[in-house]
Amino acid sequence: MARVPVSLVAADRVALNQVANLTEEFVLSVTPDFAELSQDEAGGVMRTISTATIIAYGDVATQASRISYESMAVATVGEGFTPVTVDVVARTPELVDPVVGRSMSAYSTARFSEVNAFLATSLSTVVANIYRETMFTNSDLDTRSSGWQRVTDGDPCAFCAYAAANYDSGLGTFDGDKSFHAKCGCDVIPVFDNDPYVTEDLERYRADAAKAREIILERNSVDRANNRTLRSKDYYKMFPKNAVNTENLAAEMRRLGQYKDFVPTPYV
Ligand SMILES: [Zn+2]
Repeated sequence: MARVPVSLVAADRVALNQVANLTEEFVLSVTPDFAELSQDEAGGVMRTISTATIIAYGDVATQASRISYESMAVATVGEGFTPVTVDVVARTPELVDPVVGRSMSAYSTARFSEVNAFLATSLSTVVANIYRETMFTNSDLDTRSSGWQRVTDGDPCAFCAYAAANYDSGLGTFDGDKSFHAKCGCDVIPVFDNDPYVTEDLERYRADAAKAREIILERNSVDRANNRTLRSKDYYKMFPKNAVNTENLAAEMRRLGQYKDFVPTPYV
């Protein structure tokens, strides 16, 4: 048995939150009043701020995450692996484009007051994701790690609760596992020797995820029985809530438990 010490999980969460908050504060301190800028100027400023922010704060994020990974690994399974950082500079162009694109759509509909906050939140999410990606990368490279685990802040939305429950729950993986929305409180930690960090919260998410699945399957079998002649495609068009997908599972989980609103689309 080799579980990451609770104190180091807490320290990792603090580091992730700090770098996300610092990024947000920095962006808000340098963004101009977009109402005074032409479209070209606004686009140029957004690009410059986004590039500089991702390179500078992304580097802080990946360094901090690498150090945190190392502390967790050494405390759990000892020395024997040198963690890496993510190549932030190489990744920057692909990370900047969506942020600028979405911020420009707020600008072009003249929602100027939202542009600054949107830019700050989006860039903070990008930087937090670089922190998380460093964890994924190192737990993939470290042969002693049996995977990674999503740990919520204890007050997740239904989507994040489902994603956290998905770890080792027998529910199968889904492509939302690595999605994190803006202001997401989820942290990522390595798992060693198949010994995940199991909390009462996680047990509740797992139970709710299993129940949500049962509810959908049951509703599906009733409606199916009453609509035998419908082709599958038409059936799901008529009963979209009967499909077992992340959106429906999260919606059922929200009905079952005390989860915040489902946030289906990650900002970045
Ligand atoms: Zn969430």
